[in-house]
Amino acid sequence: MTRRPLHHPGHHPGQRPLQALTFDLDDTLWDNQGVMALTEDGHYAWLDESLAAWLAERGEHALGRFAERQPIEAYQRRRRELAERHPLRRGDFTWIREQALCALLEEFGLPRSAAWMWALAAMEHFHHLRLRVSPYPEVEPMLEDLRSRYRLASITNGNLAFHRLELSRHFEVSIAAGEMHAPKPDPRCFLMTLAKLGTTPERAMHIGDSWQEDILPAVRLGMQAAWIAGDTPHGEAMPAGVHRLSHIRELPALLERLGRA
Ligand SMILES: [Mg+2]
Repeated sequence: MTRRPLHHPGHHPGQRPLQALTFDLDDTLWDNQGVMALTEDGHYAWLDESLAAWLAERGEHALGRFAERQPIEAYQRRRRELAERHPLRRGDFTWIREQALCALLEEFGLPRSAAWMWALAAMEHFHHLRLRVSPYPEVEPMLEDLRSRYRLASITNGNLAFHRLELSRHFEVSIAAGEMHAPKPDPRCFLMTLAKLGTTPERAMHIGDSWQEDILPAVRLGMQAAWIAGDTPHGEAMPAGVHRLSHIRELPALLERLGRA
């Protein structure tokens, strides 16, 4: 056993070893941009086509095409309005999308029950597309190894059905912060995660790509943080407890360095 020096960068004097790691998902464990764009366009196009076929089967031709009368921009505008009108639910993207779709479908001319049926079907397709994320190749073996030494949790503001992904089996706790109406940077989603893991902020590290939503709130709570900064230009020195990485694959080496400190 080596004796821990009193002062080491990123390691506060008397600090006990890390017990838990909490991970952001989108743009931390995988690149999310392409999937999100395909999902956004894909589920709306699916709705337009499936609804047109369903109406044609019923000999209903008076309504025209849904996406012509309600272009995707109208859907996006409706979502922004809903988020403004319901600030508490602004991060509950599934709820916002369902409400927006239902309203647009009713305005298009469907009775309320059919509008709900199609809104929910479109969201089922959304979740199907949203799960086509490709974790970076290093992520699976890294989590497999880390879970034997740390308690692992995920905290996302996104609305993907993470439990349907194979990768989710590595996490004891998975928090959808938007659905609990406390999206990051709200500290409550971090505190709930730590409570569920049975640990305290000073014995946990959060890993994420967003300075505002991941790193700041974690550090304010007294957690350590690994900032997946990509090629964001170097600014001034990192605050105490924040470790800058350019990619998630660098995390094991960081943990090893801290463990030796
Ligand atoms: Mg992220």
